[in-house]
Amino acid sequence: MSTDAATAAETVDGVDRDRLARALTAANLPTLVAVLYQLTGDRTWLTDPYRPTRSRGMDNNDTGGFDDAVADRIRAAALDAICAFHEGTPMAVPSPDSEHLVEMISVAVGEQVPPEFGVMVAEDMGFTAPDTSVAAPNDLSVIVIGAGVSGMLAAIKLHEAGISHTVLEKNSDVGGGWFENTYPGAGVDTPSHLYSYSFAPRAWSTHFGKRDEVWQYLSDVASEHDLRQRIRFDTEVATAEYDAQRQGWTVTTVDGEMLTADVVITATGQLNRPKVPHIPGLESFDGPIFHTANWPADLDLTDKRVAIVGTGASAMQVLPAIASTVGHATVFQRSPQWVSSSDVYFTEMGDDANYLMDVVPLYRLWYRTRLAWNFNDRVHSSLQVDPEWEHPQRSINPMNDAHRRVFTRYIERELEGRPDLIEKSLPDYPPFGKRMLLDNGWYAALKRDNVTLIADAVSSITANSVVAQNGSETEVDVVILATGFETHKLLTPIEVRGRSGESIRDIWGPEDAHAYLGITVPDFPNFFITCGPGTVLGHGGSYITIAECQVRYIVDVLIDMVDKRIGAIECKADVEAEYVRKHDEAHAKMIWSHGGMDNWYRNDAGRVVSTLPWRIVDYWEMTRRADLDDFVMEPRRGEAR
Ligand code: NAP
Repeated sequence: MSTDAATAAETVDGVDRDRLARALTAANLPTLVAVLYQLTGDRTWLTDPYRPTRSRGMDNNDTGGFDDAVADRIRAAALDAICAFHEGTPMAVPSPDSEHLVEMISVAVGEQVPPEFGVMVAEDMGFTAPDTSVAAPNDLSVIVIGAGVSGMLAAIKLHEAGISHTVLEKNSDVGGGWFENTYPGAGVDTPSHLYSYSFAPRAWSTHFGKRDEVWQYLSDVASEHDLRQRIRFDTEVATAEYDAQRQGWTVTTVDGEMLTADVVITATGQLNRPKVPHIPGLESFDGPIFHTANWPADLDLTDKRVAIVGTGASAMQVLPAIASTVGHATVFQRSPQWVSSSDVYFTEMGDDANYLMDVVPLYRLWYRTRLAWNFNDRVHSSLQVDPEWEHPQRSINPMNDAHRRVFTRYIERELEGRPDLIEKSLPDYPPFGKRMLLDNGWYAALKRDNVTLIADAVSSITANSVVAQNGSETEVDVVILATGFETHKLLTPIEVRGRSGESIRDIWGPEDAHAYLGITVPDFPNFFITCGPGTVLGHGGSYITIAECQVRYIVDVLIDMVDKRIGAIECKADVEAEYVRKHDEAHAKMIWSHGGMDNWYRNDAGRVVSTLPWRIVDYWEMTRRADLDDFVMEPRRGEAR
């Protein structure tokens, strides 16, 4: 039995039947069907009328499309099965194999899931034993740069593998972007049960956690794993240089302190350095003017005239959060965005759903697995450009065109009665061409009397106004720059020099990062990148899943370094070149490279630098095991080969 399934048996002790019955009224029924089948082994639950409908878009589909009578039968049977399990009846299908699992997932999500998902899901759900390799006793030393989502994960997994490490963090606490971004409305737009480490579930208060709760989660994980004692806070790294003689790295902080380690892992993310646009007059503004990631703690926007520059994910959250406080908000929109919705976006989880997750861990696992299909790879196939498609301006294939119709209807419905806003808000590029957003009350905010949408870029800023490219001038007291991040300048501003002494930025060029698996670069031995080039998720899903793939791969390499007495390990140039070729080839057929597309995934030369061109399941497979044939290796100095 899996570890989590086994925990289920131990932790349901004391379950109260009436309490459970009440909790089941809040259950997501498609999830419950999968639980029911696994507990009872009765195939009836995988057949009609118990097969749920497919989720529409990002909706949770809690009712599964069942009528009341069927829903009641599912809940009643689940109550009996859970109580029986609690009383000692063994789970009928404790460790489904991958084929069986795919059948169950396909029923739970209401559509056929490709067979290759089975192995990944079996591991995520704990039905196959996780790899818990531990290095032999060793003196390998690692410096991790950054204590955000990836750096914390690296520290946890290095510790589990028995590899000593120090984390250097520029901030005064953990959390990275979640520590820094405190703007009103900040939160995830990936469901929190998916945007969690696979090994650290939480009783989330809402389906989409807001910033404080996400940060608290990360802080709690840090405490549970005693991470803070291995993190040096307020320690910003300036340079990292490889010393081939020593087979290791010298890391220098901005304060001039020098530290050495055999290995460096960067965990500095891609959304780390605010991008402040070069707008003429920006410095001359008299009032507060700041980037969303640098929100002033004591800012009072009551009755203020506020400009918001930008309409990406950050603006999407800021505007609805401040609209009722400000005197007037003017949004400067260079490009409109495609926006989706979720029926549970604003919904609290509630005590019942959390009770259910708590006493039936299997329910929690299935709940996450359904989300992982609905939010991860489901849309990937619809993002491939059909060269025969006759409407390449508006969409890239028939499915993408259907998405366009759905999202268009959504915008028209949300902005009903405001043809002026509909005209300004409908994008002229294909959906998914920029990162999709989840509606945080954006359109409702736009319709307010105290909000104005200017569908134009900003051309200049004066001491007390913002001037749009159409010449209109708006007097404001505060300017909020929701203008995104320096996503292409990976590792900036750290100066990283490899074996040849050349800087990684010179090797990459100013905005053209590339790395084998997004993780490792020739000429940079014993150096690993998390959230590296080509690994951000443009098609959806949780970045934490990708971070778990990367950290697992890196730790696998490090265990090999220890076990095989490797002193220096460096990606082969031809291996990286071939990977980059395939990466670019895959992107050339995808939406983000489509003619005229402008997004933060692509650099000025048009190459997609940021996003993963493959499905998550493909990347999971690619990073599952490190293949030492991909590397050039040297034995540890002073040790015979
Ligand atoms: P972004 O998506 O890069 O959006 C930046 C916005 O600023 C765009 O609308 C862009 O317009 C506009 N802009 C940039 N320079 C401009 C200029 N000179 N004049 C006028 N407009 C300008 O940045 P973001 O909203 O901070 O989001 C970045 C990423 O962070 C997201 O894609 C997401 O991955 C992550 N994020 C996630 C969440 C969440 O989970 N809910 C929240 C916030 C951020 P164009 O579109 O025309 O370039």
